[in-house]
Amino acid sequence: MHILLTGGAGYIGSHTYIALVQAGFTPVILDDFSNSSPLVLERLERITGRAVLCERGSIADVPFVKALLERLQMQAVIHFAGFKAVGESVAQPLKYYDNNVAGTTHLLQAMDATACRTLVFSSSATVYGDPVSVPITEDFARGHTNPYGHSKLVIEDMLAALQNSDPSWKVAVLRYFNPVGAHPSGLIGEDPRGTPNNLMPYVAQVAVGRRPFLNVYGNDYPTEDGTGVRDYIHVQDLALGHVQALKTLKANGKSLTVNLGTGRGYSVLDVVRAFEKASGKPIAFEFAPRRQGDVAQCYASTTLANQLLNWTAQLGLDAMCTDTWRWQSANPNGFE
Ligand code: NAD
Ligand code: UDP
Repeated sequence: MHILLTGGAGYIGSHTYIALVQAGFTPVILDDFSNSSPLVLERLERITGRAVLCERGSIADVPFVKALLERLQMQAVIHFAGFKAVGESVAQPLKYYDNNVAGTTHLLQAMDATACRTLVFSSSATVYGDPVSVPITEDFARGHTNPYGHSKLVIEDMLAALQNSDPSWKVAVLRYFNPVGAHPSGLIGEDPRGTPNNLMPYVAQVAVGRRPFLNVYGNDYPTEDGTGVRDYIHVQDLALGHVQALKTLKANGKSLTVNLGTGRGYSVLDVVRAFEKASGKPIAFEFAPRRQGDVAQCYASTTLANQLLNWTAQLGLDAMCTDTWRWQSANPNGFE
């Protein structure tokens, strides 16, 4: 069964590609490589032992996407493609509304025109804005604090409207918490361009000597050690969540919206200590003021994902750090 993976050369898409092959699907990557390297394709071939099907192009190119969906008789789309840097979205909002919102609109037009109406969408815990409490259940009020988050919210609403207009649409909205880690082979992993915005890749770059120290943004939050708490989820578990979502949509045809997290929160200092243990390297850090828009703590209720997808994250913080370190130390400059 052919499945289109938009953004399949990126961090989460590439790990999901492998999980899909292992589950017996035939994934086809559609990527414009605006935030990934074509070198990932060779790595995927080494890991899976088979040729990778990949088309270079944009989700916004409706005739191109339509032709691709038809030619390979795609049964579903897993939609990862989009921009994801929060700070950049504040500085360049139109770039985000264009690629994420308009890009998705065009993708959906191509899918509708070819009657390929099964979609798994990469949403984010950012749609909960500043949650009133933790753990976060899927029925919490949604909000946004930046254009990136708003783009996810608008897409979620667009998908709801589409399903309302035509029940033949089957949609799984997956709200990821904090994806980290890498494939255990060390051949693929997260490769941010420029200075990493997220904690784990920044810590990994300090460990490997690319950055002198970590800024810890805020030590006066109402958390156990004063630093921000997040629900880090291993990208391998996340990849399996996509396989389960696809299987569930195909089996019972019911749309769903679920959190993908572990249900456990770790502070910034917990992550620093775990990474020191995994890497054997000291992680220098300095406390810095809070980062604008950050929330004190954010972690998922995992009950619904467990019930609907029969899926639970298996890997803990130590595996997340060990696998990140294996990837980072073997590829100090990422795919370069
Ligand atoms: P990524 O940047 O590594 O991957 C996205 C891929 O999409 C890249 O390969 C990029 O080249 C491609 N792309 C971008 N615009 C495109 C377009 N118009 N046409 C075709 N390809 C295009 O990001 P990721 O971390 O793998 O994230 C995947 C998805 O998950 C994104 O939608 C992101 O918003 C969402 N998400 C990510 C996180 C996270 O922390 N990584 C958290 C929550 C949600
Ligand atoms: N963080 C930090 N230094 C960094 C990057 C992140 O202290 O260089 C903190 C951040 O304030 C938050 C946590 O690490 O408390 C996770 O941040 P990340 O950007 O990875 O995820 P998000 O805040 O988007 O959930």
